[in-house]
Amino acid sequence: MRSAPPATPPDSDARMYEVADGVFAYVQPDGGWCLNNAGLIVGDGECALVDTAATETRALALREAVGRISSTAPRYLVNTHPHGDHTFGNGFFAAEAVLIAHEATRSEMDKAGLHLTGLWPDVRWGAVGVRLPTITFPDRMTLHVGGVRVELLHLGVAHTTNDTVVWLPEQRVLFTGDVAMSGVAPFCLTGSVSGSIAVLGLLRDLDPTVVVTGHGPTSGPQVLDETAGYLRTVQRLAAEGITAGRSPLETARSADLDAYADLLDGERLVPNLHRAYAELLGDAPGHPLDVETLFGEMVEFHGRLPRCRA
Ligand SMILES: [Zn+2]
Repeated sequence: MRSAPPATPPDSDARMYEVADGVFAYVQPDGGWCLNNAGLIVGDGECALVDTAATETRALALREAVGRISSTAPRYLVNTHPHGDHTFGNGFFAAEAVLIAHEATRSEMDKAGLHLTGLWPDVRWGAVGVRLPTITFPDRMTLHVGGVRVELLHLGVAHTTNDTVVWLPEQRVLFTGDVAMSGVAPFCLTGSVSGSIAVLGLLRDLDPTVVVTGHGPTSGPQVLDETAGYLRTVQRLAAEGITAGRSPLETARSADLDAYADLLDGERLVPNLHRAYAELLGDAPGHPLDVETLFGEMVEFHGRLPRCRA
């Protein structure tokens, strides 16, 4: 556990939006680094939470927001993937909730520990910790939350090797975790560009009405196409870069992202290009890359450490 409790209340413009009857998206603007979204599914007499938040202050604000909607605390907490912005707040819900995730999400959380806090030492993380899931699954699992059918689906390597999307077939609401991003650059450093495109196609086939992405405003299914479109652009740039003998960093510096130029946290282009290069040169999706080095190269491209407003 980290000390240094937060000294200020959340500057939070975070809000719960009811996206379908009894289904809520908790959106933390502006969706940049570590400002993730969560989800709340309220059934008859019980509820389930999808992901938490990065810091103690933000996790407590989420807890408060849940309390304004549901008289009972979440009985289930699903983590969509291991990254700390989605999982560091687990401990603030674990007294009442069963923690559920893909089996590799659990092992990756365990391995990463609080590493993310070291990338942004100035963030007031508060008393966050690593609280591991107690129920894991390999590919899929279905929860019945007070009568609401909640399908947990792992469809392949995408944002990470072990993403779970949460699909409500009756409400046609899809929580994608970071497999899709809304107005924010996708990030495939620990996942796969080609795998993401394939998984986004499968998500399209689910035919959702509402899509709650891992970061950024709630959306419709077009956000799946936008995310895939950006990733195909990354693939094209990588192919051109390889042919021209340019490094991923050089390719990033000369890249014209066109319709995707204004995505938030655009510096992720550098690690995304590294991933696309590796895949075009024969690496399997999700093959480990040197995360520290590529994060450093991204900072170099950006000119400074990207801002984290968690
Ligand atoms: Zn993530």
